Amino acid sequence: MDRKIISAALLIKKAKKVSALTGAGISAESGIAPFRGSNGIWKKYDPEEYAHIDSFMNNPAKVWKMISELLDIIFKAEPNKGHLCLSAMEKSGCLYSIITQNVDGLHQAAGSRNVIEFHGNNMLLICMACGKKIKTEKEIYRKIPPLCPCGGILRPDVVFFGEPIPQRAITESFAEAKSCDVMLVIGTSAVVTPAAEIPIIAKENGAKIIEINIESTPLTDAVANISIFGKAGEILPEIVKNL
Ligand code: NAD
Repeated sequence: MDRKIISAALLIKKAKKVSALTGAGISAESGIAPFRGSNGIWKKYDPEEYAHIDSFMNNPAKVWKMISELLDIIFKAEPNKGHLCLSAMEKSGCLYSIITQNVDGLHQAAGSRNVIEFHGNNMLLICMACGKKIKTEKEIYRKIPPLCPCGGILRPDVVFFGEPIPQRAITESFAEAKSCDVMLVIGTSAVVTPAAEIPIIAKENGAKIIEINIESTPLTDAVANISIFGKAGEILPEIVKNL
């Protein structure tokens, strides 16, 4: 483990440009359960069903019940050591960008600035009738589904399963993947595409891949140069100590 951490730190130190791809696992230690974990609200709600755009369109109130529970958790969550380490790395020039699949805003709350939100953000709501954008506040979703002043139904500004990724997020993320020489892949099961393609594109363009996860993923044997098994909030501080 120590040898892997030192090797990862050396790769980061030598690199000209380091990017990170993060997934739900980095926020697990902030109390937000990942989809593919054993606990949290996903025991109650099947994400494949509740996070699909067809479910939302068919029954917005039903899906909003799940969204409102998730939002209550996100509102209480604080950035953890993993988020804070990435923010510190950006400040000290060791990390250029973060591509996150998360919709919880915790990287920005930790102070990270160059964050590409691949799947949008729950902190903004959009009216499906007039397109008005409204900041997510607890009062707004107390009655579900929440409505815009125009009477239209509000949806979170996130990408549901079955929806395309916004073109800008794709363009920016793939550009990062092609131009970095080290990519940290933290807390993602790497099964949700096209996000799962990002480390593969980075590798094909010559980057070294450092994976941090509590368990192995499809990237572990096929793509990662170094796989460090452990919690992001414990491994990242060790890497930062060695930078
Ligand atoms: P996922 O739920 O599919 O996988 C989570 C991964 O994190 C797993 O591989 C797991 O082993 C790992 N993990 C769990 N705890 C960890 C820890 N403490 N440290 C390091 N790794 C840990 O998540 P995904 O790959 O991001 O894809 C699922 C989709 O669901 C994404 O779009 C994601 O944004 C979304 N989602 C987001 C949130 C959030 O915003 N916090 C929460 C749930 C789901």
